[in-house]
Amino acid sequence: MSEDCCASPSLISVDEAVNRILESGVPVEQPETVGIEQALGRILAEDVCSSINVPGYDNSAMDGYAVRSADCREAGAQLIVAQRIPAGQVGSQLEAGTAARIFTGAPIPPGADAVVMQEHCDAGAEEVTINRPVHPGQNVRCAGEDIKKGGVVLKVGHQLRPQELGLLASVGMAEVSVKRKLKVATFFTGDEIVEPGNTLGEGQIYNSNKYTIKGLLQQTGCEVIDLGIVPDTLEATVDVLRRAASQADLVITSGGVSVGEEDYVRIALQQLGELTMWRIAMKPGKPVAYGKVGNALFMGLPGNPVSTFVTFLLFAKPLIQKMQGANKYLPIKTTVIADFDWPSVKRQEYLRVRIEQDAAAVVARLFPHQGSGVLSSVSWADGLVEVPVDKAIKKGDTVSYLSFC
Ligand code: AMP
Ligand code: MG
Repeated sequence: MSEDCCASPSLISVDEAVNRILESGVPVEQPETVGIEQALGRILAEDVCSSINVPGYDNSAMDGYAVRSADCREAGAQLIVAQRIPAGQVGSQLEAGTAARIFTGAPIPPGADAVVMQEHCDAGAEEVTINRPVHPGQNVRCAGEDIKKGGVVLKVGHQLRPQELGLLASVGMAEVSVKRKLKVATFFTGDEIVEPGNTLGEGQIYNSNKYTIKGLLQQTGCEVIDLGIVPDTLEATVDVLRRAASQADLVITSGGVSVGEEDYVRIALQQLGELTMWRIAMKPGKPVAYGKVGNALFMGLPGNPVSTFVTFLLFAKPLIQKMQGANKYLPIKTTVIADFDWPSVKRQEYLRVRIEQDAAAVVARLFPHQGSGVLSSVSWADGLVEVPVDKAIKKGDTVSYLSFC
């Protein structure tokens, strides 16, 4: 299939490109055990079951008085305060006609079946008057109501966010088995590219793509192998590609994938491996070279900084997440209301927009300069509005939106 697709001048759609890329991405297998403090953003390698109930015991949801509800069916019941149970301590059998002063999180004493909040009581020196009728179970948090002992807390493939770290801690897990980090090698082609910190010579520009790509890779939890700036020669490109592929699961590059005489990435890929896909009907970012070198997958992103960013989000990010073993890897699109007009297009477009809450709706405002070299547009924006082929956008239309985060 690859030969035909690459020989053909026709462009493939974004959806087809995403499908083809994802088909070829296989999740890494090897798990590793990490402390939960190191587990943020990692993908679970196995289901997590709880060895305990959470809460572990019936406890009070309020500061107040633990009672037998049968003693307090009517408002005005008077009870002797026979015990005091702060959180961290355990009470004793609650006898009929008595109450226990109790605090949030403290265990319900045996015999009690309800807690009355202190605002609904009049406390005396040794007695308390319960001012409202009480029903069984009131203000009691039951053992296991959050998590049952033996139950699955989190499923394999789940990406750990702060709330999942808290959940793991709540069942007493100090360590967790996660997928190993994906190794991604990256390099940046172009004779004009210079690292920041140096003075620019004539015709030179700074290597912004390195910082965008590496930041995106770090954000997606990859181990990054940075092979630096590569001059525009076939020899240098073949050499770095060979080194990249030998040490990574995936190689992601910037620039040199177009049809110019100084674009060597595609040719190097064809020499060392296989180019399976190249041109995508989209703007920005038409040339994206995809293929394989040895055991590593390869994605050559276009050099224009906006194209680099947009194609990473659309193609590289879901691929990485799938290869990392995540069970959610497809980008989630939502809808917003366009605050702008846009003409009908022949290649699917991705417009940089900022999202704002209007009086009635969430609207997308357009960055005024949508050029593929205008990196300030992605910095200004919150996400992308997708403009389908042959469908002009009119202000007020509902449009498809992809958030950067
Ligand atoms: P190319 O894809 O190599 O033809 O590059 C397209 C445009 O992107 C050119 O204007 C390049 O100068 C620019 N470009 C390429 N690589 C980088 C980079 N690493 N950082 C910033 N701009 C780049
Ligand atoms: Mg170039």
